[in-house]
Amino acid sequence: MKSTQYLSRHCPICQKNTKITVEVSSEKRAEDLGYEELTPYWNGFFKEKLFFSYARCGECELLFAPVFYRLDQLESLYGQMPPNMDLVPMQALLKTQRGYFRELKNYSSLDKGYIEIGPDIGIFTINCSKEGKFDHYWLCEPNKEVASALAASVGGSPFTIIEDMFGFTAIPDGSANVAVMIQVLDHLLDPVATLSELRKKLLPGGKLLLVTHNEQSLLRRIVGWRWPAFCLQHPQIYNPKSITRLLERSGYKVDSIKRTTNYFQFSFLLKHLLWAFGIKVKTVPKIFDFTIGLKLGNIITIATPK
Ligand SMILES: [Zn+2]
Repeated sequence: MKSTQYLSRHCPICQKNTKITVEVSSEKRAEDLGYEELTPYWNGFFKEKLFFSYARCGECELLFAPVFYRLDQLESLYGQMPPNMDLVPMQALLKTQRGYFRELKNYSSLDKGYIEIGPDIGIFTINCSKEGKFDHYWLCEPNKEVASALAASVGGSPFTIIEDMFGFTAIPDGSANVAVMIQVLDHLLDPVATLSELRKKLLPGGKLLLVTHNEQSLLRRIVGWRWPAFCLQHPQIYNPKSITRLLERSGYKVDSIKRTTNYFQFSFLLKHLLWAFGIKVKTVPKIFDFTIGLKLGNIITIATPK
């Protein structure tokens, strides 16, 4: 047992010792390997699927890893990771994020300050600068390689790129009408702390938009422990019930939770499905190169500070 090298965690929502039941493990378990031994798996050098076991909290029903990387280990691992945006073809990504924006538009006046955590090259942000009238963009993005593309995405509006993913201190309190976190919340060791900090930056009636995986999705049920979101990067994975509890605990009220439509190049999807079932093809025929929209494993949540 190499667990002593890692962090032992209580449920990050309940933040106390609760009754937990281990629910999902890989064949070889991350907690049984030492840090050095595990690093090549993080970097994708081995194709074997391996992650820290996930347990269900008996009180809030969050699925989380009771043993996980420490913060200093995560910082060093993320620091050596190459940018990953080339995985999904751009056209499919643009369409997917356009759908997220339409949901935000239903709830927000799209003005005053705008905060986004992990915007990458600004695929979501560009929708807001085209259709919104925000007076300042606060973009928390540590990856310097995307800075010029991100700056261009705001279309001439005032903006600040904050190179610390969680460096909210520069943002004036009570100044933003929108805060966006797309595929970020599953990665955080202490989501309550981050969401509570972010809440101070929002105006009364401001909107928080979250996109996360849903561990109770159909896809997860079909592929079981091989579901791609069970991985070394996710210390917990939410479902509609547990994300509601998380938001209440962090001082928000949920406006809506919906399944998202994700657009894929069918060939990409097919390849990944085959891989999930252990059939390691390198390419699939060109006739599968079309884009389809599927409600698979993600949820979009809109919430307001209480
Ligand atoms: Zn809990």
